[in-house]
Amino acid sequence: MKKARRPTLRDSYWLDRPYTPAAPLEGEVDVDVAVSGGGITGVTAALFLAEAGARVAVFERREVATGASGRNGGFLLAGTHEYYVEAVEELTDRYGSEGRRYTAAAWHLALENHRLMTEIMTRYDIDCDYRRSGSYIVAMSRPDRGSHPRPVDRIAESYHLMREDGFDVAVLNREAIRDLLKSPIVEGALRNGFDGEIHPVKYVRGVAEAAKKQGAFVFEHTPILSITRDGLQFLLRTAAGQVRADRVLLGMNAYTPQLDESYEKRIVPNRGQVFTTEPISERLFDGVFYANDGWEYWRQLHDGPNGGGRLLFGGSRNHHIPAERGYHFMRRNGRLIKTYRGYRERPTQAVQTSNDRAFDRTFPGLATLERTHRWGGVMGFSYDSSPFVGETDTPGIYVIAGFTGRGNAYATAAARLMTDRLVGRDGEMEERFTRVRSVFDARRGER
Ligand SMILES: Cc1cc2nc3c(=O)[nH]c(=O)nc-3n(C[C@H](O)[C@H](O)[C@H](O)COP(=O)(O)OP(=O)(O)OC[C@H]3O[C@@H](n4cnc5c(N)ncnc54)[C@H](O)[C@@H]3O)c2cc1C
Repeated sequence: MKKARRPTLRDSYWLDRPYTPAAPLEGEVDVDVAVSGGGITGVTAALFLAEAGARVAVFERREVATGASGRNGGFLLAGTHEYYVEAVEELTDRYGSEGRRYTAAAWHLALENHRLMTEIMTRYDIDCDYRRSGSYIVAMSRPDRGSHPRPVDRIAESYHLMREDGFDVAVLNREAIRDLLKSPIVEGALRNGFDGEIHPVKYVRGVAEAAKKQGAFVFEHTPILSITRDGLQFLLRTAAGQVRADRVLLGMNAYTPQLDESYEKRIVPNRGQVFTTEPISERLFDGVFYANDGWEYWRQLHDGPNGGGRLLFGGSRNHHIPAERGYHFMRRNGRLIKTYRGYRERPTQAVQTSNDRAFDRTFPGLATLERTHRWGGVMGFSYDSSPFVGETDTPGIYVIAGFTGRGNAYATAAARLMTDRLVGRDGEMEERFTRVRSVFDARRGER
């Protein structure tokens, strides 16, 4: 019998690099905008706000990019769903005849987000291994879809809708995708030419440095413990200091309910798990790959000799849904209640073994490659798959969260929108968000 591999406990490959964090806050600071959370959302908002001349400070409870932003696959995928056709169906169910228009607008917004990210990389010279090599949504021969429609059909339907809506897409048949991946279990693919990839930690920390250069304060190892109103301002308490702020932006994604309970049922933490292999000295393929409805995903990095690199592979949540959802039971007023405050990043044997099996099945010729890093990260899933962007029920407190595994697609555009609103600037982002306002409404659900 094949011996199960034990998960090694080295952390995210992306975080396995030297880093000197900024000092924690000690004493008091007074700012226009206090940003809670130092992931892609928080540091990007801080950069845009500082560029616009606002006095802004980011507070990160650990180190910048140690949340989901330093634990994802580094995929820049447009859109809110794996299949465009699925988004059209869901948004049509919810918003009637506006559904198709909202879907197209949400995808176009993600392309604008991508453009803004490349603009930041260029303006601040951020070397984050960015490539725009496209993405592939891959249909497998044994999909875990239960009674859902066949992935090859969803691909064909998505292709037609996307072409009509003006996107650069192509279909690869079984022979073409097998030739590209050298995998015996792939059946077809949709290629999205507009998607890309980054080293997420290099990118997010590069943005944090740019924000500092523009005058933003970044405090690390500084959790925000509470937020209360104090006259015209807000008072934020930290372990060794306090912050006075005119406005507050929650950029905490999965952790949002910890500071604003009204998001407890709107955003549920879900863990995702990934591993990387040792680097190989051969380039197998370019681009990023999503298979089985996004339950499995992979890419080859560019960190090896002769143009080769490690394989990064993640997914398998579908076999472990209850364990990977961040439920947590706590006692409140003598009653045991279910909350969504379980946030464990540590990888588990069960999911990592499923990932190993899925990888070995997809790439039998690579099954012997050593796994060098295994990790987990906590994503914030909204109840309806779309992020919350805007002012919360508390006037003066804003939120950008609930990305449902798509923060790289929307955080930057959302941060730009929020900056425009906070500094009272008429930006064209407002117009773009207006086209999808119901889909991204920060107060939807719960009211
Ligand atoms: C395995 C995996 C795969 C993924 N794949 C993709 C993908 O293919 N494409 C994509 O777009 N996205 C993907 N994602 C999701 C993406 O990583 C997130 O949507 C994105 O990083 C969210 O960024 P954020 O800044 O909003 O949240 P985070 O990066 O989680 O940042 C929130 C920060 O808030 C901090 N914080 C929490 N509480 C406090 C407090 N009280 N005070 C101060 N700071 C606090 C946390 O420490 C954390 O650093 C994936 C995520 C994972 C884990």
